[in-house]
Amino acid sequence: MSDDLVTVEEFRHRRKVTWDRAKLWLAAIACGIIGTVLLADVDSNSSPVRFGASIFFFIIAGISSVRVIYIVRANYRCPICDAIPMDGGILLSPSIGYDEGIAINPKRCSGCGARLS
Ligand SMILES: [Zn+2]
Repeated sequence: MSDDLVTVEEFRHRRKVTWDRAKLWLAAIACGIIGTVLLADVDSNSSPVRFGASIFFFIIAGISSVRVIYIVRANYRCPICDAIPMDGGILLSPSIGYDEGIAINPKRCSGCGARLS
């Protein structure tokens, strides 16, 4: 097997591990956002249960987001140079003000140019 194919297979494995570890947390983010939006109209006349539920969903979304970022940063890396493949997206940006996002299905590594798919 050529080095390129070994790299592609290893990156495919890393991407699958990342997805397997992150998918439940992504679902938790979605639930947290939906719950936060549905309960967003709390005010001083709202019941304590409703207020607590809105805080709970907001915290779930935040904790889950941090967990997904940790999982991606730990697993979704180039097998050659260990960089996270990046491209021009903004949704999965690793830091505020960074103008590149994480490439979901990259052809090549943005760090070293190694073939990844
Ligand atoms: Zn690389």
